[in-house]
Amino acid sequence: MSTTYDLIILGGGVAGMTSAIYGARANLRVLILDENACGGLVNWTKVVENMPSYTSIGGMELVERIQEQVEALGVDIEEAACIDAIDFSGEEKIIEADDTVYKAKAVIVATGRKPVPLEVAGECDNVHFCAICDGAAYKGKKVLVVGGGNSGFDEAIALLDQGIEELMLVEKMDTFFAAQSAQDELQSRPNSTISHSTEVTDVVYGEKLQSVTLRNVATNETIEHECDGIFVFMGQEPGTEVFEGQLSLDKQGYIDTDDLMKTSVAGVFAAGDVRQKKYRQITTAMADGTIAALEAERFIHSITE
Ligand SMILES: Cc1cc2nc3c(=O)[nH]c(=O)nc-3n(C[C@H](O)[C@H](O)[C@H](O)COP(=O)(O)OP(=O)(O)OC[C@H]3O[C@@H](n4cnc5c(N)ncnc54)[C@H](O)[C@@H]3O)c2cc1C
Repeated sequence: MSTTYDLIILGGGVAGMTSAIYGARANLRVLILDENACGGLVNWTKVVENMPSYTSIGGMELVERIQEQVEALGVDIEEAACIDAIDFSGEEKIIEADDTVYKAKAVIVATGRKPVPLEVAGECDNVHFCAICDGAAYKGKKVLVVGGGNSGFDEAIALLDQGIEELMLVEKMDTFFAAQSAQDELQSRPNSTISHSTEVTDVVYGEKLQSVTLRNVATNETIEHECDGIFVFMGQEPGTEVFEGQLSLDKQGYIDTDDLMKTSVAGVFAAGDVRQKKYRQITTAMADGTIAALEAERFIHSITE
């Protein structure tokens, strides 16, 4: 397979796949590199109810439909591709992934966001970030949910719906931030407990997870709490370390762009949740992906004419 493309898109979430559709329809040779499977966060969303043209659609089904469209247009896709190095300094943009060197006239960065990890858990196999992806493995077992925002409560309810025997939700701050309706729903479930002002300070595991140490941040008291799995919902971060020194990033690591998705480097664009912006939704990611691809096409024509 040739490794030289007109346009390489880093990240195959809804932003990246939308860019790919526009790029391919403009007759560009397009490659998507994704470190996981295409679809990104939408794969983790049980039901999407704000996607125009679908009153309600499962996240995975939406991804399948978009990916079918991308593949039908002849876009190359490399999944499970780990980006080792990038060099955006020359006219030709270079990306090294899994010992292969890829070259492109233009690049769109659409790598989205990653869940904030629970540092004390290290590499424990029983730590998860998605109830619909991994919850079924804990049917009849005990689970700890970390994070008292909307995601924490919604995912806790989704876990209980999958047959979790006992669930505890903890939040470090002295209040929960989830919608009251979600808090009421979880509190009404007999096999759940919720506790704010509580942080996880240690995770004990041998071959598998055994227990966690929970500290009450107000009283400093600690307890050991047995559980089989931990589901973490402490927010999202951009994970743009690989672009440091190459692209202008804001203090949180989001990529700076203008309204045309142009980054600080000519020929490199950013789209979707990875860029500095106010609203992060499927439709806004798709809009960014559209603009980035149209601008990438213009850029490629400007350097080849
Ligand atoms: C729990 C939850 C529920 C949501 N529900 C809704 C909803 O109902 N409606 C709605 O409109 N929005 C919803 N959102 C927001 C929406 O999912 C996002 O705004 C949207 O998916 C962002 O798309 P994206 O393509 O920018 O990023 P992502 O979906 O994050 O995709 C980024 C892709 O890049 C890949 N990637 C990351 N790093 C690298 C790398 N270094 N190299 C290669 N590939 C990489 C990832 O594997 C991923 O496939 C929800 C978000 C969450 C967290």
